[in-house]
Amino acid sequence: MHETKPTVYLIARPSVDVDGIRAYLTAVGGTSWLQRRLHDAAHEEAAVPDTDEDAALLHTHEDAALLHTHEDAAVLDPTLPAPDDQRPTPLGRAGHQATDQAAAPPDATQPRAPREGQTAHRAPQAGGQSDAQLLIEFAGRVCYRSWEPGLNPNVTRVRTDQREYFENLLRSAHGSVLEHASYSFALHDVSRAFTHELVRHRAGSAFSQESLRYVRLTDIGFRLPPALQGLRQRALSIVEQLEEFQVEAAGALGIEGPSVPFHVKKEVTSALRRLAPIGLSTDIVWTANVRTLRHVIEMRTAEGAEEELRLVFDEIAKIMVDEAPSLFQDFARQHNGAWVPKHSKV
Ligand SMILES: Cc1cc2nc3c(=O)[nH]c(=O)nc-3n(C[C@H](O)[C@H](O)[C@H](O)COP(=O)(O)OP(=O)(O)OC[C@H]3O[C@@H](n4cnc5c(N)ncnc54)[C@H](O)[C@@H]3O)c2cc1C
Repeated sequence: MHETKPTVYLIARPSVDVDGIRAYLTAVGGTSWLQRRLHDAAHEEAAVPDTDEDAALLHTHEDAALLHTHEDAAVLDPTLPAPDDQRPTPLGRAGHQATDQAAAPPDATQPRAPREGQTAHRAPQAGGQSDAQLLIEFAGRVCYRSWEPGLNPNVTRVRTDQREYFENLLRSAHGSVLEHASYSFALHDVSRAFTHELVRHRAGSAFSQESLRYVRLTDIGFRLPPALQGLRQRALSIVEQLEEFQVEAAGALGIEGPSVPFHVKKEVTSALRRLAPIGLSTDIVWTANVRTLRHVIEMRTAEGAEEELRLVFDEIAKIMVDEAPSLFQDFARQHNGAWVPKHSKV
């Protein structure tokens, strides 16, 4: 056996097709909204370029070129800052880089160094202007044609600031819009106890879990929860005995040879898992939309939630605040580790 620690890998995030959105808005009206968002993204990216290469890309990027001058953008939204006004985003990439840099200067071309229980992920492509946020805002504005005033006679004013737009959306519990954007996580070395609780979150989730009907338990991974540290040697020795039994039983039941039919191996392996600890480390891929993520983060970091779930969801919460700061703007981490939103269950 070997001791493990859960690790969270963010493996997929939403990606929008800007050309598709532009084509739609050209047909129905509202391109100024897209121009504003692309301008915001370019402005934030220019303020904190990841690498020289990124910065150069930005200036030649087709979308940045759409905005011929900053003045063009200012006409669309007089509240836009001047080009040299490098206002920091509240929770965007700039803030995180500053924090990371204080600890150790990161190489922006490489994934970040992992925190305990979390493996590196790249922040959204343009500060607060993540594709997830663009997608959700786009979907939300479809409802009232509120990309700009005048498209809908009932809408005479629109919120131009994305963060304010989402604040209003969360306050009014317009949560279905959050379902358009999904994130996928590979959760490595979490316990079977963990996965059993995770899969209860059916709404807005997809799961793919390591099969213990097929995977032989010849080297059991196990994390000793803090509450059992006082019984460390005894607990680990029980896990070792269970592992020895798995190996011995596989030999005694004759499933080692290459000539043994696969269905026999499967049946025995499946039966043997009944004699494995529920704390054994395993892997699961979880995809969840933003509405689900908000709900599950709140539930599974709450004080009454299980310790390992709190540990893993603390990492997921940190990732999501980094990924989509405006969609998680109302979450605050309490002193006890609970992530509490202002707007629960939107
Ligand atoms: C601290 C804690 C202790 C727990 N203890 C136990 C226990 O002892 N035994 C046990 O069996 N479970 C237990 N659970 C699991 C719990 O009962 C839920 O099954 C789990 O948390 C999934 O949450 P959810 O019901 O919000 O579902 P999700 O799938 O996350 O759904 C999100 C929301 O969507 C809505 N929704 C989803 N599906 C439906 C539906 N079919 N019909 C109507 N509305 C729906 C609900 O509003 C729901 O809250 C515990 C959970 C926690 C956090």
